[in-house]
Amino acid sequence: MNELINEKIIAIDGPAGSGKSTIAKALAKKLNLEYLDTGAMYRAVAFVSIKKNIEIIDEKQVLKIAKEMNFNFEDGICLVNGYNATKEIRGPEVTRVVSAVAAMPTVRQEMVDRQRLWVEKKGGGVIEGRDIGSVVFPKAKVKVYLTASEEVRAERRIEQEEALDASKVADSIRKRDEADIGRSTSPLVRSEGSIEIDTSLMGVEETIKEILGLFKWN
Ligand code: C5P
Repeated sequence: MNELINEKIIAIDGPAGSGKSTIAKALAKKLNLEYLDTGAMYRAVAFVSIKKNIEIIDEKQVLKIAKEMNFNFEDGICLVNGYNATKEIRGPEVTRVVSAVAAMPTVRQEMVDRQRLWVEKKGGGVIEGRDIGSVVFPKAKVKVYLTASEEVRAERRIEQEEALDASKVADSIRKRDEADIGRSTSPLVRSEGSIEIDTSLMGVEETIKEILGLFKWN
């Protein structure tokens, strides 16, 4: 990967509900760049593992699924091995196990390889996840770490998922954050050189404006 490509990479990391997807999508549109949701990739691996009744603790089997998986995410539609899994990858079953899948070092390596290949093909992009600025593209031109209060993050997820049980949603987010922050391989961290933005009280336009104002754009 050369420096030129790194110039066109915008890495957005942060915990669940911090606004990553909304902001990354809007930024990509504004800057005419492609958008990659890396969380959807880990979710897709979890989805196929569930469908195939694989024990989520069996790293070898989960890796096999990851390696063989045909993943395509375009215009908000997620095709996993040719099947439209857009809704199911966001469902509670997948959400419950995705952090365990994402904690597997060999599975992460496979996903990271795919993410780097994707960026090489597209010539850059806005990429969101947990380890984008720290591990996948540490030399990205722009690195943003989004945060928001626990309450706001839970509210956003409740709205997105049309969930009825607020305490269950808040609990699920907390557990996932703990797992993502506490794992030994590529934990969620604020990477060196990233700018932290608390979106609790900020709208989408305001956040985009702040990010665009932070860096020199060509
Ligand atoms: O972004 P989203 O909430 O859909 O991500 C689902 C899960 O995938 C996260 O909770 C995390 O365990 C994992 N993930 C990751 N690294 C990334 C993106 C997502 O570990 N780059």
